[in-house]
Amino acid sequence: MNTGILYGKALRRENLDAEEALFLYTGAPLAELMALADRLRRETVSGNVVTWQIDRNVNITNACISGCKFCNFHCRPRDRERVFITSPEEYARKIEETLALNGDQLLLQGGLHPDLDIDWYETLFRELKRRYPAIRLHALGPPEIFHIARISRLDPETVLKRLMAAGLDSLPGAGAEILDNDVRKRISPGKCSADQWLDVMRTAHRLNLATSATMMYGHVETLRQRVEHLVKIRDLQAECPPGNYGFIAFIPWIFRSSGTRLEAEGVKGAFSPQEYLRTIALSRIVLHNIRHIQASWLTVGKETAQMALHGGADDMGSIMIEENVVSAAGARNRFDAAGIRQAIREAGFTPRLRDQLYRFRD
Ligand code: SF4
Repeated sequence: MNTGILYGKALRRENLDAEEALFLYTGAPLAELMALADRLRRETVSGNVVTWQIDRNVNITNACISGCKFCNFHCRPRDRERVFITSPEEYARKIEETLALNGDQLLLQGGLHPDLDIDWYETLFRELKRRYPAIRLHALGPPEIFHIARISRLDPETVLKRLMAAGLDSLPGAGAEILDNDVRKRISPGKCSADQWLDVMRTAHRLNLATSATMMYGHVETLRQRVEHLVKIRDLQAECPPGNYGFIAFIPWIFRSSGTRLEAEGVKGAFSPQEYLRTIALSRIVLHNIRHIQASWLTVGKETAQMALHGGADDMGSIMIEENVVSAAGARNRFDAAGIRQAIREAGFTPRLRDQLYRFRD
């Protein structure tokens, strides 16, 4: 194996296996990896455009029976001091603020509440769409779909169909972390397994529900498990029926350990810009069948996100009018609309506001 042969395979959009991806990840010079990823990005997304989005993260509830060790946001359902379920009045206020800021979408996420079943979510989505038909619902994720199916005694496909009929526009790739069951047993034992996560996404792709994929890295996983995660995502995307959305974007982000149970167990999240840039570049190279790679400025900050735009990423994500989960574990980066446009221009690109399907809005 040598880097030149693997670069050639990548340029021909041939699948790299986990061994080959690991060889590049650990052995290729960062500048070469970024240049290769930049070339692939420019062949995939034409022009000098970098997209961004305005949405608002609203947390449906913080009650959660999962207890992931990296999550400072949730609380036990019986913790009466801390538990909340967002009320209709709060949704109304937050949506009206979002629309006033030219936002077009709610990113709705929350814990695995033991009592909120399919009927409850259908009612919520229907009511939000009835009052605000223009707002798009980018909501839940495979662990929530799996959990709602379990407590509603349904299969995930029925849950997805009913939620789509009620107003679900797209499914975030939340809760992927690292798609390896040994890793999941250590950091999120209460969540669905790697195969269950992939199965929910496979079903969503068959139903032509637009989705994204994520990876949270830098905790207990090995580098091999990291690249295997990419390979699993790429292979699932290859199964997507032709013409359906599949994974529209891939978003890797780093684990932030501050105040988490994992930190108490001695697992510290150490941010390395070089490692992040390597991860973005490898994502573009391995995931040749996913169009958009997002730089997660929220977790890595402006400068590193700007560099990522030169090494495979073509999107800056959302200005996130409200974000509670990553911020609760130590991420403190902030942008407004002018700031994100400026950051994209400073990096040498043309900013374009987009929606969840990457259609331009300006
Ligand atoms: S990450 Fe999600 S599923 Fe895990 S504990 Fe937090 S709220 Fe619950």
